[in-house]
Amino acid sequence: MAAQIIDGFSIAQNVRAGVGEKVKELQAQGVIPCLAVVLVGENPASISYVTGKEKALAEAGMKSLDIRLPEQTTEEELLQRIDTLNKDSSVHGILVQLPLPQHIDEDRIITAIKPEKDVDGFHPVNVGNMMIGKKSFLPCTPHGVLVLLKTMGIETKGKHVVIVGRSNIVGKPLGILFTRREYNATVTICHTGTKDLSYHTKQADILVAAAGSPGMITADMVKPGAVVIDVGVNRIPDASKKSGFRLCGDVDFEGVKEVASHITPVPKGVGPMTIAMLVFNTLEAAVASIKA
Ligand code: NDP
Repeated sequence: MAAQIIDGFSIAQNVRAGVGEKVKELQAQGVIPCLAVVLVGENPASISYVTGKEKALAEAGMKSLDIRLPEQTTEEELLQRIDTLNKDSSVHGILVQLPLPQHIDEDRIITAIKPEKDVDGFHPVNVGNMMIGKKSFLPCTPHGVLVLLKTMGIETKGKHVVIVGRSNIVGKPLGILFTRREYNATVTICHTGTKDLSYHTKQADILVAAAGSPGMITADMVKPGAVVIDVGVNRIPDASKKSGFRLCGDVDFEGVKEVASHITPVPKGVGPMTIAMLVFNTLEAAVASIKA
């Protein structure tokens, strides 16, 4: 039987609607959550992500401060901008869209953002607090994956989760979160140094692909009945599309859906959840600023 398709788009809409209700309560207290969205350069994928994020913030009743800077912006200029935003009490969150141009040190920029405004959850203070289970902003994509599973009623306790990819923004934090007691999963993280990748992927009760390699997870790499979460977003040239490309995940969707019990599509799977969790974190930042 073909897998159940996990409708990330609808689940994300519900999360955003829930946040929107809480925003109304804040508005009644005179607070409008505001996220500064900083984009350096003109990377088409980044422009599209930033536009999607700003639209979602507006729909939830929040403000976004749209800051577009030219490609030649220096590291010092960007640090100066961040310093100003850090000090501005009407700005609750700061998002610097990655990747940055090569001449700018991403780590230096991320570390310059005040942890209380780091709604991406990338600052070492937030990463450290997440690691030891203290309150912190959770990185949006891993958090979105967990909310998807929870909403679908998919049990993680005692399950073997195999994650392909060990980046700081997806694979590693997701692995850490799955080992929290509330999820109680056993985790294997694979990367390009993994020998016999398909041996590992076939052990997975829940398989997460976050490698950035189009269609690399094929049906023969998946245990029948596994839950398959495709984080990958890859742009494939496609002359039949107006944009000249189509999006595809890291999973061979057509083949794997015949083997898996549940599967996320690309698009409309994990992607919308990432945005929804960003909106959620911006609300959290605004609420925390009132209590501070
Ligand atoms: P990175 O390029 O930072 O990391 C990719 C990881 O996958 C690395 O750890 C790499 O291993 C591993 N990897 C790549 N190819 C293979 C392979 N053939 N076998 C085993 N491991 C492999 O990517 P990100 O984590 O930033 O993103 C991953 C994907 O998710 C991309 O397609 C990205 O666009 C997408 N993405 C989607 C989001 C969403 O909202 N849906 C949000 C963020 C990312 P090694 O470390 O050894 O190099």
